[in-house]
Amino acid sequence: MEDKSEQLTPTILSKDVKQKIDSRLGQSNGSRLSEVITGLTPEDPQIVDRLIQMQDQIYQKYGFPDISLMLTNPNLLHQKINEILDKNQIPFLTKDKTKEFFEKYPDVYAAYFRNLKSIGINTEKQKNPSYSNQLFFISLLHETTHAVQEVNNEFDSSSIEMLEFEATLATTILSPLKDLDYRATIPEKNIQESIVFLFDSICFSVENWESQGGTSNRSRYTAENLLKTFDGITSDQIDTYKTQVNSQTPKP
Ligand SMILES: [Zn+2]
Repeated sequence: MEDKSEQLTPTILSKDVKQKIDSRLGQSNGSRLSEVITGLTPEDPQIVDRLIQMQDQIYQKYGFPDISLMLTNPNLLHQKINEILDKNQIPFLTKDKTKEFFEKYPDVYAAYFRNLKSIGINTEKQKNPSYSNQLFFISLLHETTHAVQEVNNEFDSSSIEMLEFEATLATTILSPLKDLDYRATIPEKNIQESIVFLFDSICFSVENWESQGGTSNRSRYTAENLLKTFDGITSDQIDTYKTQVNSQTPKP
């Protein structure tokens, strides 16, 4: 019988290719998501300016107030969010309509209910001593973003990751960082950690979305896919890498 394996040219991995695969596999989901959405990793020094720019675009697109207002004028922020909800005819749900949902998902602060085109607030969460005005505004503007995305038909045209990115970035306090003197006083490490947290929380929201029965494009953000689409690594090279790693792993 003919031995087919002899006819195949074995794929030889260069050191560069191995390193690239190693680093992608070691990258967190949040970091990969950051790269896909912003073109930059959370460690890139340019990412703060990129995020500020993207936030401005989101605020302009939806006519949103700056979330930083919650530090200086929370009443005005509340008024502005309510105006947006009124204008787009998005009501709040009464407790009896959301009870079942929040009992099932007790960790969720608020939710936009697509079937009812309304926002529900988890009032049980508000009883928690650690609940704050800031948590209220962040969850309210987050769900308002989803509601307005629905009005703008973004649910049909955007990935869930992008929808969550918009809602999360809209509720991240960035404006103070526009002041470069102030920015210089914050350790680089702290800024980087906050950005990693931002993208990790988007991943968390996407997982939540999936657990509630939604579909996501999570498969687009795997190490393998980024290797293929960003780094020009072929499936063959990835398979060879896997075989080599497996043959090096000591068997118990
Ligand atoms: Zn969300």
